[in-house]
Amino acid sequence: MSVVLNETVVSRVQEAVDEARLLDTAVALVGIPSPTRSAGEVADKLASVLRADGFDVERPVAGFEASPAVVARFDTGRAGRVLQFNGHLDTVHLPFVPPRVENGVMYGSGVSDMKGGIAAAVEAIRVLRDGDFLPAGGVMLTAHDLHEVPWGDGSQVNSLIADGYVGDAVLLPEYHCHNCPLVGRGQAMFQVRVTRDGEACHEVLGGIDQPSVISAGAKLIERFAALDAELEKLVHPLAGRESLFVGQVHSGEMFNQSPTQLMLEGTRRWLPGNTIEAVRGQFEEMLSAVATETGTRIDADFRVSRDAYEIAEDGALVRSFQAAFSGTTGAELPVGAKPFVDDGNAFVAAGGVPAITHGPGALGAHTVNEECPVAELVRVAAVYALTAIAFCANVGD
Ligand SMILES: [Zn+2]
Repeated sequence: MSVVLNETVVSRVQEAVDEARLLDTAVALVGIPSPTRSAGEVADKLASVLRADGFDVERPVAGFEASPAVVARFDTGRAGRVLQFNGHLDTVHLPFVPPRVENGVMYGSGVSDMKGGIAAAVEAIRVLRDGDFLPAGGVMLTAHDLHEVPWGDGSQVNSLIADGYVGDAVLLPEYHCHNCPLVGRGQAMFQVRVTRDGEACHEVLGGIDQPSVISAGAKLIERFAALDAELEKLVHPLAGRESLFVGQVHSGEMFNQSPTQLMLEGTRRWLPGNTIEAVRGQFEEMLSAVATETGTRIDADFRVSRDAYEIAEDGALVRSFQAAFSGTTGAELPVGAKPFVDDGNAFVAAGGVPAITHGPGALGAHTVNEECPVAELVRVAAVYALTAIAFCANVGD
């Protein structure tokens, strides 16, 4: 445990977390439906909860007027680092499930992903301010829309980062808590269309003489497989390997008709050290080579979700977070990789600051059965507040 996080501080913070107040906030947020691109009303609610608590709240549009982001700060006025808590207020587009709390478990749309985590972060800021726990520096809470794909494109958090709403480090309360993620692969989804001139036609009425989009697709898949075999050699000890994966292929209407189009979709994942430009360039080169060889046209949407990232295990954020985690649980969290991409990738890759995704041990993200133990929300609030106490103090770095 770090010097600042002695047992007294840990237990005082844990006692200061107000479960009823935290749950009120969580219920208020979950109670307002907010499918991606429609988080305006819940953002207004979060802003009013924070204002009622006496926090200064900013509402930067950040490129999406329908739902301006929410930014709240608590600053001690003493020189030190700023720790940022960042969350998305939008949920996936599934039927709305209203909030309810039963036998110590909270249910409802977005409680796991990630309104419960945002409520915990709000509670952490209250605890830090009301208990005067922060020796120096400050905390900033940011919340936004446009996270969940395919409805959102991550552009609102990108705008927040570009507009300078970035602390010295970031915590993101997604439902991930089995390791301390130090690294994450970059990810792009692609949709490739192979087409030829002319109409679909019978095999014996000229069809056999047409460029075959199916052969071209097969060639492309072979090249992809060969590249994937090469990528297998690029391995990170925590994050695994780079990959090129094909998940679906469609072409043709019937057995003796020459089709005009083939479509295939998949993902490309890469490790820190590689770049989006290099990965995209390599992909496009393969497409144009196969198009030339087969007399077809091949074009693609190559949609980058997030870039790869890696943060230092011995940096101030990881050490502060681990001290906070072990202070509340008695155990150190093993370091590892983040299996999915999230906004933390953007804070590291585009914002240039370390970010850790850590939230409640919640279930059912992206289903209608989201559930989160109340004790986990309380634990996350304490871990967030304690991480800030260790990190913002700027001691010993
Ligand atoms: Zn999420």
